[in-house]
This record gives sequence, C-alpha cells and structure tokens, in this order.
Amino acid sequence: MNVIKRTYRFRLYPDNYQKELIEKTLGCSRQIYNAFLSLCKSEYEKDSKYSVKKFDLIKLLPKYKEEYPYLKEVDSIALQQTVIHLFDAYLNFFRGKTKFPVFKKKKNDYGYTTMNVNNSVRIIRNEIQIPKIGRVKFVYHRPLPESFVYSMVSVSRIGKYYFVSLLGEEEYQEYQKHSKDHLDLANSIGLDFSLANLYVSDSKTKSNMPKYYESSLTKLAKEQRKLSHMVKGSSNYKSQLLRITNLHERITNQRKDYLHKTSRYLANTYDYVFVESLVLKEMAKRNNNLKLGIFINDLSYGAFLNQLKYKLEWLNKKLVKVDRYFPSSQLCFKCGYRKRDLSLNERNWTCPECGTRHNRDLNAAINIRNEGIRLVTNSN
Ligand SMILES: [Zn+2]
Repeated sequence: MNVIKRTYRFRLYPDNYQKELIEKTLGCSRQIYNAFLSLCKSEYEKDSKYSVKKFDLIKLLPKYKEEYPYLKEVDSIALQQTVIHLFDAYLNFFRGKTKFPVFKKKKNDYGYTTMNVNNSVRIIRNEIQIPKIGRVKFVYHRPLPESFVYSMVSVSRIGKYYFVSLLGEEEYQEYQKHSKDHLDLANSIGLDFSLANLYVSDSKTKSNMPKYYESSLTKLAKEQRKLSHMVKGSSNYKSQLLRITNLHERITNQRKDYLHKTSRYLANTYDYVFVESLVLKEMAKRNNNLKLGIFINDLSYGAFLNQLKYKLEWLNKKLVKVDRYFPSSQLCFKCGYRKRDLSLNERNWTCPECGTRHNRDLNAAINIRNEGIRLVTNSN
C-alpha cells in the first residue's frame, strides 16, 4: 500500500450570513498577511538579509490580535496558516525561488486555509461543517475514498462561486498486472444482470447493495408519492420538489460509488467475467421490478459494464460478452434442455427432462459462465 497526496474540491453554497463570515475571514487573513509582510519588508530594507524567524512571526499574532479585537472573531487557525504562508513566501524569496512577496489586494485574494483538527471539518450528508462558518451546503458529487485522510482545508471564492478543497493523503494499491498466459478460466464468474440486485452470479452471490443506498431509494419513492398529492406550483410542491432533487443527487452519488466498488471488486477477484451483451431496454421490459428499475436504469448498467471492462483490461484480464440471443434463462444448466415457453414471471422452474429445480437468475448465471468458457476455449 502506498500513500499519495490528493485534493478534492467541491462547490459550496453558503447562505448570506455564511458568505459574510467567509468574506470576513478573507478580510482578516488579508490584513494579517499584509501587516506581517510589511514587517518582513522593512526588516529586509534595513540590510537585505534573511532575518525574520517563523516562530517570531507566529508569536506576534496574539499581540496583534489584542490590538485588533475583531480578529478574534474569525477562525484562529486560518490566521495562523496565513502567517505560515507568508513566511513560506518570504523564505522562498531567499531560496531564490520567487520574487519578494507582494501585498494582497481584495480583488486577487481568493481563499484561506484552515486545518481539520479532531474532525472539526466534517461532511454531514450534503453539508460540510467548517470552523466558525458552520454547516454549509455543498455538492458532494463524488464520495471521498475510504482511505482518504484530510488535514488541510481551504475555502475559496472565484468570482461569485465558493469552493472548499480538502487536502490530504490516500492509500492506493499497486495492482499486480497479469500476463495473459496466466489467466485462469477456473477463476471466472458469470453474471446475470438483475434490476433488483445489479447481478446474480453463478455461485449464488449477489452484488451487495449497501443498506444506505437501498434506504435512500425507499425514501425517494415515498417522497415522490407525497409530491403526487400536492398542488402543482404551490409552495409546498416547490419545497417538496427541492427535497426530491437533493435526494436524487445523493442517490446518484451513492450509486456511482456502489458501481465503482463492485466493479473494482470483480476485476480484482476474477480473471474472466462473463456477461450477457443485452439490449438494456429489453431487460427493463422483461423485469417486473420496475420500482427499482427506475433507479438502477440502463444508464447504470452501461456505466457498470464500461467500468468493469476497463478495470479488467487494466489488469490484463477479460470481460467476455456472450451473444444476446443466447437463451441463458431457458436452458437447463444440468442437461441442456431448453424450456422455450419459460415466461417472464417464472422466477423458479423445474426441468422436465432431468427434474432439476432452477432459480431463474442463478441458472442463467451458470449458463452464461459455461457459454463464456466455451467461447474462450474455442477462440484459443
Ligand atoms: Zn435438465
């Protein structure tokens, strides 16, 4: 496991009061920066030597705050960070890396940095807690990786837009790439896609839809039912619509996360993954679980297959699609009998030839795997 530095940036939607607080913090940081820069500058003008120490600057901060008590109202860590930034800029000048730092002006002052101390900056659903600013609405468009630990947090404004950036480290694995000769057909899996579970595999495993995702879906259905009873255009209707939009956004993120984790798991675990190359609209038709079908829609399957494909290829492994006319559900995997009249609603059936009792999805997944193995063996 290795560690890399990463920054994740999200759009912030502060309310007017929070905007004021952010601007105030920017203003105070700027004041500190300029005051301390002016001090460094006058020292430099005396003898052109490197004479200011970082520690001395930081020590000056409390005194300076006594002089301007309103500085105590903003995030104290942000002000400390400002002093450290200034010192770094000053030091870089003496190292020959940059010009002597210049004063900050309001029009080109974009942000301030604070630290995440004991979870002082944390994500709570679609809000982020920021010291002294409070909970600010934000667009959590991609979930942070589980291993990501952020220590620095910067709040910035570009034009009229606000952003928060989380700076930290995350783990990454160096995946062992396979050479093609070592791909093992025994280490393969057949997947039958299902709207309720994403997939059912030939070994009876289903993808594990996270509970939070499932409960979001249930909640969405409930909220949509509520909306259908409201008068269009009324203020209740509008606020309900907003609630649904937010919920949609959250569900989209949860789904993306779920698809990525699942495809990653499959690619890491198996050498071959066999799937049906299906026309997705047909699948929606043939499945009666439309309640979920609306949410795990064609688009997700397309995205999931793409992810699976590139993640496998990256590891020199293979995604193999069996023909879309291959009757995966109708064939008995034991004896090969084909039940042509198998209807869409039959979730279980018994083979008239050999008497095997079949679960529809499991039987299909086993057939897909066997067909996949046949295709690979024939092409070699
Ligand atoms: Zn049979």
